[in-house]
Amino acid sequence: MRAWVEIDTENLRHNIREIQKRAEGFGVWGVIKANAYGLGVLPVAKILAEEGIHYFAVASLEEAKEVRNANITGEILILGSLFHDEILEAESLDFHINVSCREELEWIAKNAPKTKIHLKIDTGMTRLGFSYQEGMEVIEFAKKLSLNITGVFSHFSDADGNSQEAKEYTQKQIERFLPYATREDIPYRHIFNSGALIQYTDQKIGNMVRAGICLYGILGSTPIPSFKNVVTLKTKVLFKKTVTEETYVSYGRLCKLEKGETYVTLPIGYADGVKKYLANGGKVEILGEACPIIGAICMDMMMVKIPENLVNKIEIGTEVSVFNNDIIRRNNISETCTWDMFTGLGRRVQRIYK
Ligand SMILES: *Cc1c(COP(=O)(O)O)cnc(C)c1O
Repeated sequence: MRAWVEIDTENLRHNIREIQKRAEGFGVWGVIKANAYGLGVLPVAKILAEEGIHYFAVASLEEAKEVRNANITGEILILGSLFHDEILEAESLDFHINVSCREELEWIAKNAPKTKIHLKIDTGMTRLGFSYQEGMEVIEFAKKLSLNITGVFSHFSDADGNSQEAKEYTQKQIERFLPYATREDIPYRHIFNSGALIQYTDQKIGNMVRAGICLYGILGSTPIPSFKNVVTLKTKVLFKKTVTEETYVSYGRLCKLEKGETYVTLPIGYADGVKKYLANGGKVEILGEACPIIGAICMDMMMVKIPENLVNKIEIGTEVSVFNNDIIRRNNISETCTWDMFTGLGRRVQRIYK
């Protein structure tokens, strides 16, 4: 194996239990869109189900069908809006869909009246949704159309943020959603995502939460206290060399090695999900030590500088950790975004469940 991602299923189960503690009294949607953030939708869904989670959120009809076809029982919510042909199929397969405009509600009333609808309310994310000012009226409008209003939900834009502004904005979104969160005539009411569940635990509103990235014990580039590491991207040393003169490394001559310095080449690159920005100060871990990535990351390979004390210990085949939660925290480069790193894992990276 050239590159693989180890998924620690025991730690995943631990994290699910931590989430259930924080979500006590609330239902939990396990968010498994984008192939469970690149980690494998069916294995992750199966573990969620075994741990008592029977609500699944995905991004598209195709993803919903994948979960259903695997015989995983439970309710499935599609978070992204659908086109008309997809709505017909969603109705027949009993998926929950979300709706963000009145014309859509009218169309559904005529063509797919049994569809389970979650009305999406825009409280400040500005992506999909009815504005929070008009949402109450829309609920009445939908009721007049005899639609199956199963849920009402919204989405935070900065609940994982730590700045004062992020906190104020999130607070504002909580206030805007509160009137919806208390509508007991609507069965499912949810706005809390991972960031909110971890950082605003005591302010939960509605009766459900949606947990995505926190399943893996990390938020942004900060490991979550009392959660465990689930995801480790690994590879092996492919080549080692001590340079005999000053020379530039990799495409674009971004980095120089001095005579006598040693580097290794790893068989993993940006096509496998190693972000190019990591060349800007990122480090991987070899034999427990942080070693700096040098030069531009290539499509299929990358180079790492080897500290003096490791030169004789590292050989072809020595294992390398490219990222896990601690490495992500240490790298903490401004572009670091765990969602992007996990979902960016390439097809060549084997998923190994431990
Ligand atoms: C992706 C997504 C989530 C999950 O977000 P996390 O931050 O990973 O918990 C929740 N709700 C919606 C609408 C999403 O698109």
